Amino acid sequence: MIHKLYTADIVLPGPAGESVTDGAVLVEGETITAVGPRTEIEKQAAPGTPVENFHGGTILPGIVNSHIHLVFHGGPKPADVLQSESDDSRLVLKMAARANTLLRSGVTTARDLGDRDGLALRVRDAIAADEIPGPRILAATTPLTPPQGHCWFLGGEVSGEHEIRARIQHLASRGADAIKIMASGGESTPGPYAMWDPQFTTEELRAAVDEAHGAGLTVAAHAHSAEGVARVVDAGVDTVEHATWLVAGPDWDPRPEVAQQMAEQGTILCHASSNDWRRLAAVAGEDWARRLGGRVAWFDSFGVTQIAGTDAGITSFGDSPAALARFADYGFTPARAIEIGTVAGATALGLAGTTGALRAGLAADLLIVQGNPLVDLTALTNTLRVVARGHQYTPEQAEPDR
Ligand SMILES: [Zn+2]
Repeated sequence: MIHKLYTADIVLPGPAGESVTDGAVLVEGETITAVGPRTEIEKQAAPGTPVENFHGGTILPGIVNSHIHLVFHGGPKPADVLQSESDDSRLVLKMAARANTLLRSGVTTARDLGDRDGLALRVRDAIAADEIPGPRILAATTPLTPPQGHCWFLGGEVSGEHEIRARIQHLASRGADAIKIMASGGESTPGPYAMWDPQFTTEELRAAVDEAHGAGLTVAAHAHSAEGVARVVDAGVDTVEHATWLVAGPDWDPRPEVAQQMAEQGTILCHASSNDWRRLAAVAGEDWARRLGGRVAWFDSFGVTQIAGTDAGITSFGDSPAALARFADYGFTPARAIEIGTVAGATALGLAGTTGALRAGLAADLLIVQGNPLVDLTALTNTLRVVARGHQYTPEQAEPDR
């Protein structure tokens, strides 16, 4: 078994507010065995334990990215590129390479919210078996959508409550970790549903939640449409993805009563974007960018729990630390942003007893960066080392964009 002592100027065990100056993390095999001040932890390490000292560095939990798509390539026209890839074996190889990029950027856990034919399960299982490098993956497999609905080409078209329930049973039996349902139209799919159109009735969404929860699975609902957001919250989904409040026009119509309901029910928001309002401004104009990007602060004012997700696949696979750092643009403190990207994500995904913090008994999932992210969040992007279940990785310089 590998023993190793990692030391750094600062250790952030999580949750927000905890910080150890001149700290250390002791790792044995795949597990953290001690965290605390260096002088104390050194005494607990067996004689001869290798030590790696990160001067001027910070050790924090590995990032949890709660919204990715390994089937998409992370470059322009992701839906077109995927539809032109007919060979599943080649596609799985590419997905494995993308998981590797994600890992080396600092992500040690990721939730895949939509693939084709359950291919993310193969990548998930190969990573879990230590056959290929990658973050721990939870996979929703193929998302449910109505005929011709958002991402219909992934193969998840269902019509009516009976088919919804049957499909969820099928996905559960294949080994899905969660259920993804497309509750509104989406950007990458032309067709009958615009982004501001809901795609399922509240009754259908309730049936999906009932069936998934009965099978022990959580439900993540894609919703750009204001009406779609209201319906999925009413139906009791676990996480709302995007929640951009779009209405025809296009315009936007944030509904305070729905945000209030989310806070009361414990419905979680995953912003599911790069969080990059400047990039959004270049596409949609500054006014839209401020409104859409600023919704993370708006939701926060109601006390809605948030987790971090970048929609990697639609966005880049290397962007997770930067997307987390951009929470500062919306007034979040560094400690809160880090908590959203680590502890909160792990808790939301049912992994609080596995990862998301630095504590004896949890998986050795560490992100080691240069600088102090509590002073400047962009330090999160200065990756020195990523440790995933005790395995060490160096950052990747070039990112595949294919
Ligand atoms: Zn997505």
